[in-house]
Amino acid sequence: MDHRREAGYTLDSQREPDARHDEGFLAAAIEQARLGADEGGVPIGAALVADGRVLGVGRNRRVQLGSPIRHGETDALEAAGRLPAAVYRRATMYTTLSPCDMCTGAILLYGIPRVVIGENETFLGGEQLLRSRGVEVVNLRSEECVALMRQFIKHHPELWNEDIGED
Ligand SMILES: [Zn+2]
Repeated sequence: MDHRREAGYTLDSQREPDARHDEGFLAAAIEQARLGADEGGVPIGAALVADGRVLGVGRNRRVQLGSPIRHGETDALEAAGRLPAAVYRRATMYTTLSPCDMCTGAILLYGIPRVVIGENETFLGGEQLLRSRGVEVVNLRSEECVALMRQFIKHHPELWNEDIGED
């Protein structure tokens, strides 16, 4: 059953308002990534948006909190708090970097139908899986996001490898 229809609205009418402001919402995620960099963390940020409003922002805080699960996307989900299922189903997840397997899983679990990423040059995550499950994935190919990651990986290769579960 299509719960989106059941709730009385269509996908397209809900997606359009957010899509018009993709660059602006990505900027909120980039701001988080920069904050993370200033804290000595992995510079990845995210923002959960629905109905043209930012519900929560987050950044990778593995280093800052000693947390294995606070990636940009999961931190944004946590910041947005517990929400009704219908809200996730009309939301967009903005993230500065292609989402890893864990964050891809969270996006699928909550049925978030749209993901806007800053880039996937420095890391390619679960985009194929997301698309195969009907999630719209938009890559804004942000040079700013690429530069943030390139600089971080160059200076902290060990922290980055740890982030993506590699030696
Ligand atoms: Zn992740």
